[in-house]
Amino acid sequence: MGHDRISALELVANLPRGLYVDGRWRDSSTGARSSVHNPADGTVITDVADASVADAQAAIHAADTAQKHWGATTSRYRAELLRKAFDRVIERTDDFAALISLEMGKPLAEARGEVTYGAEFLRWFSEQAAHLSGSYAPAPNGGYRIVTARQPVGPALLITPWNFPLAMATRKLGAALAAGCTCLIKPAPQTPLTLALLTQIFHELEVPAGVVNYIPTVDAAAQSRALMDDARLRKVSFTGSTAVGSILLHQAADRVLRTSMELGGNGPFIVFDDADMDAAVEGAMLAKMRNAGESCVAANRFLVHTAIAEEFTERLAARFEALIPGDAFDAASTVGPLIDARQLAKVTELVDDAVAEGARIRVGGKPSGGEGYFYQPTVVTDVPDSARIAHEEIFGPVAAITTFDTEDQALERANATEYGLAGYVYTRDISRALHFAERLETGMVGVNRGLVSDPGGPFGGVKSSGLGREGGAEGIEEYLETKYLAVQL
Ligand code: ADP
Repeated sequence: MGHDRISALELVANLPRGLYVDGRWRDSSTGARSSVHNPADGTVITDVADASVADAQAAIHAADTAQKHWGATTSRYRAELLRKAFDRVIERTDDFAALISLEMGKPLAEARGEVTYGAEFLRWFSEQAAHLSGSYAPAPNGGYRIVTARQPVGPALLITPWNFPLAMATRKLGAALAAGCTCLIKPAPQTPLTLALLTQIFHELEVPAGVVNYIPTVDAAAQSRALMDDARLRKVSFTGSTAVGSILLHQAADRVLRTSMELGGNGPFIVFDDADMDAAVEGAMLAKMRNAGESCVAANRFLVHTAIAEEFTERLAARFEALIPGDAFDAASTVGPLIDARQLAKVTELVDDAVAEGARIRVGGKPSGGEGYFYQPTVVTDVPDSARIAHEEIFGPVAAITTFDTEDQALERANATEYGLAGYVYTRDISRALHFAERLETGMVGVNRGLVSDPGGPFGGVKSSGLGREGGAEGIEEYLETKYLAVQL
């Protein structure tokens, strides 16, 4: 049975809200705690322990100590454990959905979607775990053999964002644990509760002490600096802004740490004049409005062929107008609030700036007012290139539309950004779609499809959008080294 707000708060009251280090829940060494807010009304939901640098050091000690044993477990054992974790998360779908809704604000139905998606990474990587490969080949010059084996990189720091509190964690944890790496996971300070429940599930499944460590903190910079300076840490995987990713890459350089970076996007969504209009509008809703636009793969710039621009805009605007912003636990709500006041201010600024530069509002255009961090679902047209919204990641429910006449024009504009995460192209001409997709400078392309994220597909970006891939056959590679043995016979 699904939760209402009251039963969700009861769930929170029964949740462990400490740190999880070396197989046990405990308080921060300083006794510090940090508040978790409800973005729908700004009230405090609860608080969680705030890990100090000393706590992080205790966690890396535990992870390093556990690494030897964990890396030597059979891949079948790790696969079974991940599979059990998948089952357990699915069993507790209602609980996870309630926590996600409560701390992040997305409507319950969407939160349930994230649980399905997030759990799937555990199943996917449980299947991957049992398929670690090696090779055996004659050296080209003969005389000896080239043998390769895969080995875990070692203890990994996993830093996750607040927009998908479960899924962004499972796609790192699943891969790291499958590969045989011990982990330190740090959730975003806005959304630590979902991960507390996931950690509790690993605890119940008796994952060995030190293999999973959960260290929420509000001082991420101090924590990551201390951990990355520590010779025992071997890997950092980060999902978040390009600005922070770049800081972490600089820090990683000092010790030549392995890194995976899932950073910002500025997704183009291209609609050609021969597109299936129903599909394009449906895809646009998904690509733009999933998570209220707070997704790094969100469509950020709509480039629509001049001949169909008015029809597309009209239909998209009608769909936006029909959305119902509201509290996650209200069954009528179809779009949640933004995560916090800072994000609301940023979206407000971007739209105001676009209007000042000459863009026109079709629907929406301002904060909803009242409690919480809601912004009206908004469609803006005639966005000039001088507007910030044409270049910056919006991370909100705002569709910015411009038009194009030729394919080359569309491509040039789509690629005129430092980012390259996801792009979308709609046309009935599959040859044009593929030709266009090949030239689009993004790591992922939705071809007549507004949703690309899938545990079975390699998620990741090019240019300033990141390094490495998560999910797919590639995801586990981020946590493996190749050991080469030259064997004289
Ligand atoms: P946003 O601005 O959307 O919150 P961030 O990139 O700031 O995105 O945050 C993503 C994650 O990175 C969060 O878990 C946050 O706590 C963490 N983070 C922020 N700054 C740093 C830093 N200097 N070092 C390590 N992690 C950081």
